[in-house]
Amino acid sequence: MAAEGGGRAETGVALVTGASRGIGRGIALALAEHGWSVVVNYRGNADAAQATRQAVEAHGAACLLVQADIADAHGRARLLDETLARFGRIDLLVNNAGMAPRQRVDLLEVSEASYDEVLAVNLKGPFFLAQAAARAMIAQPRGAIRPRIINIGSISAYTASINRAEYCISKAGVAMLTALLADRLAEHDIGVYELRPGIIDTDMTGPAKAKYDRLIGEGLTPIRRWGTPEDVGRTVAAIAEGYLDFSTGEVINVDGGFHLRRL
Ligand code: NAP
Repeated sequence: MAAEGGGRAETGVALVTGASRGIGRGIALALAEHGWSVVVNYRGNADAAQATRQAVEAHGAACLLVQADIADAHGRARLLDETLARFGRIDLLVNNAGMAPRQRVDLLEVSEASYDEVLAVNLKGPFFLAQAAARAMIAQPRGAIRPRIINIGSISAYTASINRAEYCISKAGVAMLTALLADRLAEHDIGVYELRPGIIDTDMTGPAKAKYDRLIGEGLTPIRRWGTPEDVGRTVAAIAEGYLDFSTGEVINVDGGFHLRRL
């Protein structure tokens, strides 16, 4: 059920980048559960994307799969074009797709190629996709649903990990992207939010699983468990359903309390 003021009779259309696996899939499924039509974007993993599509459709929701590299301008344009061609509008963009550096190396060894690649996927892609989606949201007839943009940031926006500097820098940039979009788009009643996941159990954290198991067990996070894609999905659904409509530019930590300073 939608929050008061966020009530709607029509089906919302959400575009979720990187929804073939992990957090993006969790978001797509949470939205489908709430009756949203979902555009599932992915880069290369068609089998995983098909599995997400089946799970979305199992909730009775409409689903469009779009392969597109969000780092590529043509890919982004096609992604939005296909969304609008199929559904005629976009009510929610979730900038979720992201990548860790292909190799974790010390800050002093980071190559320009890795820096460029990570920044292109994690920051440039979300910036220009949000720009294009916002233009579409402004241009389309106002429906019953308030348009919104959600950026999936990270605790890495403020946590220095010297063996993945380019990732941390990209997520710090996403924090400013959220603030800028929120300020610019408020006059169009487009809400903008950043979710800051902590340690979430996905393919991305797979290589560091043993390390994070140990750290969580030792109390790194006040809530001593891994986060799940469902944790993030539910938070997106709360925003999508209108429960945070007098907030914009808000950062929501989905991190088991990682961000708390403790003594
Ligand atoms: P993941 O399991 O590695 O999944 C990444 C997803 O993004 C996949 O669907 C992948 O598509 C897609 N993708 C990657 N590069 C893409 C590109 N250039 N264009 C289009 N799609 C692309 O990652 P995750 O852990 O779910 O992370 C999702 C987001 O949450 C990322 O922004 C990440 O930085 C952020 N985050 C994750 C954690 C964590 O602990 N896992 C914590 C904080 C923030 P394919 O399947 O086709 O490869």
